[in-house]
Amino acid sequence: MSHDPNCIFCKIATGEIPAKKMYEDERVFAIADINPRAPVHLLVIPREHVPTLLDLPDRSFDLIGHVFQVMRKLAVEQGVAEQGFRLVHNVNDWGGQKVLHLHFHLLAGKKFH
Ligand code: AMP
Ligand code: ZN
Repeated sequence: MSHDPNCIFCKIATGEIPAKKMYEDERVFAIADINPRAPVHLLVIPREHVPTLLDLPDRSFDLIGHVFQVMRKLAVEQGVAEQGFRLVHNVNDWGGQKVLHLHFHLLAGKKFH
C-alpha cells in the first residue's frame, strides 16, 4: 500500500502520528476532525495515499461505496442518523481541499441549510 511520508493522513494511517480511531478496517479509518465545523465532525480516510478523487483509478471505485457504508454506520452509531447528517467531499483548490489525501467529511448535530 502506497504512503507519502510527508502526508499528515498517511502518518495517522501508519500510526506515526497517534490519533483516536473511531473506526478502522483494512481499507479505511475514521477520526474526529481536529477543527470541527459541527458538533459531530468525523473524517473517513482510505489508508492508501490517493491525493484526490481524480487520482482514484476506475477499477478502485468500489472503495467509494465502502466509504459511504462506513459513514452510514458511523452516523447510526453517533445517534445522528434519524435527525440527519451531511456528507462532504472536497476536490482540489476551488473545492476547498486542504489535505491532498482522499477523505470524506461526516457532519451532524446541527441543522444545515
Ligand atoms: P479538506 O479541507 O477537505 O482537505 O479537509 C481537511 C480536514 O482535515 C480539515 O477539516 C482539517 O480540520 C482536518 N485535519 C487536518 N489535520 C488533521 C489532524 N491531524 N487530525 C484530524 N483532522 C485534521
Ligand atoms: Zn497520504
